[in-house]
Amino acid sequence: MLQLRADVTPQQIKDVESAIRELGLRSQLVIGETAATLQVIGDETDKDLHVLAGMQGVEKVTPVNAPYKLVSRRLHPEYGLNGHTKVVNVAGVEIGGTSLVVMGGPCAVYNRQQVLETARAAKEAGARIMRGGAYKPRSSPHSFQGLGKAGLEMLMEAKQETGLPVVTEVLDPRHVELVAQYADMFQIGTRNAQNFELLREVGRSRMPVLLKRGFAATLEEWLCAAEYIASEGNMNIVLCERGMKTPFQSSENGRFNFDIQAIPAVKALTYLPVIADPSHSTGKRALVTPIALAAVAAGTHGLILDIRREADGPIIEYVKDGVAMKTAYCDYEQALTPKELETLAVAAKAVHTAMHTPV
Ligand code: PEP
Ligand code: MN
Repeated sequence: MLQLRADVTPQQIKDVESAIRELGLRSQLVIGETAATLQVIGDETDKDLHVLAGMQGVEKVTPVNAPYKLVSRRLHPEYGLNGHTKVVNVAGVEIGGTSLVVMGGPCAVYNRQQVLETARAAKEAGARIMRGGAYKPRSSPHSFQGLGKAGLEMLMEAKQETGLPVVTEVLDPRHVELVAQYADMFQIGTRNAQNFELLREVGRSRMPVLLKRGFAATLEEWLCAAEYIASEGNMNIVLCERGMKTPFQSSENGRFNFDIQAIPAVKALTYLPVIADPSHSTGKRALVTPIALAAVAAGTHGLILDIRREADGPIIEYVKDGVAMKTAYCDYEQALTPKELETLAVAAKAVHTAMHTPV
């Protein structure tokens, strides 16, 4: 890591960057609130970075051998140690800092009317970003897999009507370019949390990324996944805790266990914002609100929630190749109604305000 002088010039930065390239390494400039650093990307094992110490504009050289550096709080003194975070801008909605952003929408996109009505309801209930899957990672290949491009078009239409930015999952590196044309934020799902080629591909884009934690990932593995995105130059990353698989899962206890302590723990390790998905962690409507509020108390920067229309039932219609079809509504049991979202959003705001009010 190279700490740069406060009065460093753009030309001096360029010179240092090219000296780093000559060592066979790459670098990433990170500009913080009070200072800037150049993080070295690549294996530093046999390199002598101290040769850079005499260069103009360089304050200090600290060789670092850590599995993640770009997203590390310890290595970014410019964010300080007081919980300041990067603020990620998703088409005008800022995630991070002291704000609390609620995101909501259907688990999956099935038809135009469903998406439009759910988006409208989510907005009215307090959501500022809309979610919805056009590509669905289903455990069984026989389950509904998403409408793909047609689903992205429906999300775009809902965005145009409501003004809500869209977060949607990308499953395959080959779809990154297409999804980027419609969405405002990529979602990397828990099953792809260590799909390194996919992480690199969204890293080459500059669009914000919502990175779910692998359901068996340690905090280090989670941050290394973020590091893959960052090392391609995309620092617009928001982490999302979405529950761990434990030996104690049952229909009463929920699909996964929300790792509440991961929120303050990961915030101590990184300056990236962290949000919570109590829908996918619990898998049960009755558990969503209490876990969401606990996550706010634990310091999350946002909530992402599955929402359905009041009248939706467990079966929903869609059209495939011009043929009308019916299928089971994905994750129906965990979806909140708009009314439930509204109640939750009000309570979440109260908890968040209490957390930020000095006593
Ligand atoms: C989702 O949010 O639609 C989803 C599939 O979540 P996860 O990857 O956390 O299971
Ligand atoms: Mn889902």
